[in-house]
Formats: sequence, C-alpha cells, structure tokens
Amino acid sequence: MVVNTTVSALNYKDIDEMIEYFRQFNLTYHNFELLRGSPKEKNLTLPPLSEVKKIHSKAIRARNYYIERMKLGLLEKISVLGITKYTQSLKERVLDSGDFPFICSAGKNIIVLEPDGQVKLCELLPSVGNLKEYNYDIEVLLKNDRTKRQMAEIADHCRCTHVCFINMSVANDIKTPFKLPYYFLKWKK
Ligand code: SF4
Repeated sequence: MVVNTTVSALNYKDIDEMIEYFRQFNLTYHNFELLRGSPKEKNLTLPPLSEVKKIHSKAIRARNYYIERMKLGLLEKISVLGITKYTQSLKERVLDSGDFPFICSAGKNIIVLEPDGQVKLCELLPSVGNLKEYNYDIEVLLKNDRTKRQMAEIADHCRCTHVCFINMSVANDIKTPFKLPYYFLKWKK
C-alpha cells in the first residue's frame, strides 16, 4: 500500500509530523507530490520554491526510509532514489524558470481517458474529443484538429510539475539510464 500526500501551502508545515505518523503502518512507501493544476479553492497554492526544495529533501529521505525498511537491493535504491531526485530537480526547474528540457509527453505516450469517453491529452487540459464520436478508435481521434492544435500549444509553451507526465518524458529519453546514478549520488546533498 502506498500513501500519496499532495503538498500545498496549507499542509507543508506539517510534513514532518505526517512522515512520522505514517511510519507506524505497514506501507510500501509514503510519497509526496506537489499540488498541480488550478484548484477551485483559490487559497490552495504551492509553498514557495525555497520550501519546495526542503520538502523534496524530506520526501526523498522518507522514500529511502521505506527502501531500507523493506531491505530492497542497491539497484532498486539507485533507480528509485535516482529517478525521484531527477524528477524533483525537473520540477524545481519548472517552478524556478519555467524551463523544461523536454516537450511534454502528453498525447504521445500518455493520455487521459475519462469514464464518459472524453479523451484529454492530460487531465489539466480540455477534452480533444469523445471516443463515442470516433467509433472508439483512439488513433483516429488523436488525428483530429483539436488534438493537433493542443499538441502544437503543448510543444510551444506547456510546462508543469505533473510527475506522471514528467516520468513519461524521462522514460522516453535515451540519456535517462545514465542520469539516474548521477542523481542518486546527489540525493543526500
Ligand atoms: S506540461 Fe504536460 S502535463 Fe503539464 S499541463 Fe501541459 S500537457 Fe499537461
């Protein structure tokens, strides 16, 4: 069982207590992800970047705690902590400068399918069509004009901290296997 805590300006001061509280349970691990998108509650925002960096350090130490508790091997430790540190650094880069070294994978190797058939390139963007209107053929749907327009907008200016989509961009990058040991060595800094 995994617990995922969404970090926002409303709860980030309680991170230490949350980490400690969940250690009493038999979890696989306790994960922390940054709030993303545009919540309806306007006071629900991200903490400042300086605090995000501190939270990232706590989150990766928490992840290491569960790796050690489950006595996982070194390879798993390098890959899990390496990818966590790498994606954390990408999120910090987006928050700091808006810069992201990839074009987001949305619509290429990941999409969102809503229960009613609506297809979204990511859940933060409007639907590009409903599968029901395309005889349930996702490949035909993804060739429509709405998809092409959104793909162009994504390539042009879309950047965010959505880790599922960052992971898919990272997974597609041939350099990733070489980067993970580097970020693993950086994680304690
Ligand atoms: S960067 Fe990717 S995941 Fe983020 S809003 Fe844009 S398309 Fe969606």
